[in-house]
Parts: sequence; C-alpha cells; structure tokens
Amino acid sequence: MAWNAFKLCTGLRVVGSVMILVVLAVVSVSYYAIVVANYGPDLFKAGYHAPVAALVIVAFHLLLAMVLWCYFAVVFTDPGSVPSDWKPASANEEDMEAQNTLLSSLPANSAAVLTAPTTQMSTSLDSPRMRFCRKCCQFKPPRCHHCSVCGRCVLKMDHHCVWVVNCVGARNYKAFLLFLFYTFLETSLVSLSLLPHFIAFFTDADDEPALPGTLATTFLAFVLDLAFALSVLGFLIMHISLVAGNTTTIEAYEKKATARWRYDLGRRKNFEQVFGTKKLFWFLPMYAEEDVRRMPVFKGLEYPVRSDMEGQEF
Ligand SMILES: [Zn+2]
Ligand SMILES: [Zn+2]
Repeated sequence: MAWNAFKLCTGLRVVGSVMILVVLAVVSVSYYAIVVANYGPDLFKAGYHAPVAALVIVAFHLLLAMVLWCYFAVVFTDPGSVPSDWKPASANEEDMEAQNTLLSSLPANSAAVLTAPTTQMSTSLDSPRMRFCRKCCQFKPPRCHHCSVCGRCVLKMDHHCVWVVNCVGARNYKAFLLFLFYTFLETSLVSLSLLPHFIAFFTDADDEPALPGTLATTFLAFVLDLAFALSVLGFLIMHISLVAGNTTTIEAYEKKATARWRYDLGRRKNFEQVFGTKKLFWFLPMYAEEDVRRMPVFKGLEYPVRSDMEGQEF
C-alpha cells in the first residue's frame, strides 16, 4: 500500500488538541512549584527571603499573563485566508477563462504552481508568475501557501504549529513570536528560581526537610522549564534571523541560495512588517489601528518588493 502523507496531517490535528493540555499541564506544574511549594511560603520568612519571594512571584505572574495572552492569541487568531474573489492584479479575462478550462481538466487533490510562460494562463511572456492552488481552486496571493493540515490556503504561511493547533501566518505571526519570547523569559525565570531549591535537595542544605510532593514537583518543574527554555531559545534565534531577512520558514527552505530576496527591505522595515511601527505595541499581540490602516502587509495580500527587483519574476 502506498504511503499517504495526508493521513499524517489528519493525525497532527488530533495531536494538536492534546498539545493545549500539555501546555496547560506545564504551566500548572510550574505554578505549583513556584507559588505554592517554594516562594509562597518564603513570603512569611524573615530576612531577605520575603522581598526576593515577592519579586519572583510578581514577575512570574506578569510573564504568565503575557504567555497565556500571546498563546491564546495565536490559537484563536485566523492566520489569514484568501478572499474567494481574489485574483492577481495582472489576471485578465483570458486568464480567468483559462483558469476555468484548466480547472475542469485537472485531477482533484493536487496542489500546483503554474508558471505563465509554460501554460495557457497568460498571453504575455513578460507577465509575472501566477500561482494557483488546485485544492482550493483559486489563485494564491504572493507568499501564500496551502496547508495540508488545515486543508486551505494560508496567507504568508510560516508553518503549521501543533503546539497552537493552528497555522502560523500573516495575522498571528507576531503573537507567535511574542509567545516564544515570553515563554523563554518565563521558563528561564522558573528554572533559575528553582535552581537553589533543586541544588538544596541534593546537598541536604535545606534547614527543613521538604515534603515528597514538593520535592517531586520542584524537580519536575525545574527539568521541564529548563528543557523548554533551551528549545524555545533555539526557535527564537531562528525566527529573529528570519524576521531580519523578511522570510518565512517555508520561504527559507524554498529560496535556497539566492543572494537577493525580493521582500528584504532592510532590517528596520522588515521588523516593522511583523511588529508594526508603534513601539508601545511591539510587546503586545496586537497592532495600532493606524498601522493596520496604513500598511497593507497586515491584510496579508500584498507585500512591498525591493526597488531593484520590481517587476521581476519570482
Ligand atoms: Zn489551497
Ligand atoms: Zn495549517
């Protein structure tokens, strides 16, 4: 029997729902270890213990609020779908007619990218390449890709993320990056705060012997949060370099070794295309109204191209 990759995609949808529970379980274990088992009781101790505990608990709650806000923003924000009447600016009536003819002759269940000079979809050899999704039966805007897990085309698709049970695309990429950022800070805070307690258990340096439940939770939270901090740091570094070059994860794989990237407008402008121009909003999973009005990139259908590559095929 032939291997069917689409069965894997269906499996990913099921795994996705479990991932939300995994995230909430890690949050609960960390909460118990920091607030209930270790730093909560420290609030009532004498000396430097109380102010340190207060600081850790306040920082933990602030970061947790940001982690959960960004996480659910990625989960519940539509990454962006193609409007049903969308067509490339260069498409004329002949192209649309050719599209209909082509649709009736295509086998179902296969995605395709059509290049103008090799098909009947354009009458001019100079027209830019038109991208078309056979599964959704519609034209694809620039930087849009078909997601087999979601079963639809997603604007500026970055990747399908099982941790958020959603695609990461044009409209939730910023929330995804902030989720990585705050998760790194939160898991680092938990690991560093639990480190002295973790060491104390092994060196018997604690004055009062800890309850077995406290010991187990502290050990588990320390190991889990340290593992998350290290792996999220890797992702964060990768995405910082992608944002700096105005590239999605899919494009990074596709563009291979091109020296110039058509959407690379310089670091500052590349950053603003994801985070907006208003500094106050850089750390929140939302955009200033003025940015949304002024910058078409946030609608996910058009993207400015560097001046020396305008009009070139991509
Ligand atoms: Zn599609
Ligand atoms: Zn998807």
